[in-house]
Amino acid sequence: MTSIEKTTALATLTEQIQACRKCRLCEQRTQAVPGDGTAEAEVLMIGEGPGKDEDLQGKPFVGRAGKLLTELIESIGWRREQVFIANVVKCRPPNNRDPEPDEIAACYPYLEEQIRIIQPKLIVTLGRHSMNRFLPGLRISSAHGQPVRRADGQIYLPLYHPAAALYSPSSKAVHFQDFAKIPQILEQLKTKHDS
Ligand code: URA
Ligand code: SF4
Repeated sequence: MTSIEKTTALATLTEQIQACRKCRLCEQRTQAVPGDGTAEAEVLMIGEGPGKDEDLQGKPFVGRAGKLLTELIESIGWRREQVFIANVVKCRPPNNRDPEPDEIAACYPYLEEQIRIIQPKLIVTLGRHSMNRFLPGLRISSAHGQPVRRADGQIYLPLYHPAAALYSPSSKAVHFQDFAKIPQILEQLKTKHDS
């Protein structure tokens, strides 16, 4: 797909998500949160689901955890706009409860389509739930910060959810250390690709 085709395909998908009523999470949402960023992103970051601020603004990671995510992205010299940020479920679960398996199953095709369009070189999962969607059986405490290649060739980097640092400020350094690995991992992937 050309860059224009990617952008158009993503915009069409965004409209579908905004109008979606495939699961019960549509009933209490203010608006769906399809995702944000450029269709040309090399890195796709995937959180769990929108919270209160995201539900109000229709954008992912705009609350307190989002502020830290933006800081983490900027700490490696990047801008937030150059990655694509999305969630496993696109509508806020009431009172921020965990999404139910049937809700995740209903919403997952949208994420698959986002991946198919963007074709990211690296998928960064944020938090345990997002990680387990792609890498079942891993434990975040030992898996965080280490890239994993799945059988289909896609590379994943499981990271802690930025909200974890809000509850446990002493863990903040680990978040920054893990993020600092992203440019190097990406560089290695590109070199392998070119050779
Ligand atoms: N937490 C998430 O997992 N996603 C958001 O968009 C915001 C907070
Ligand atoms: Fe549709 Fe996903 Fe929202 Fe459910 S969570 S209504 S499947 S967009």
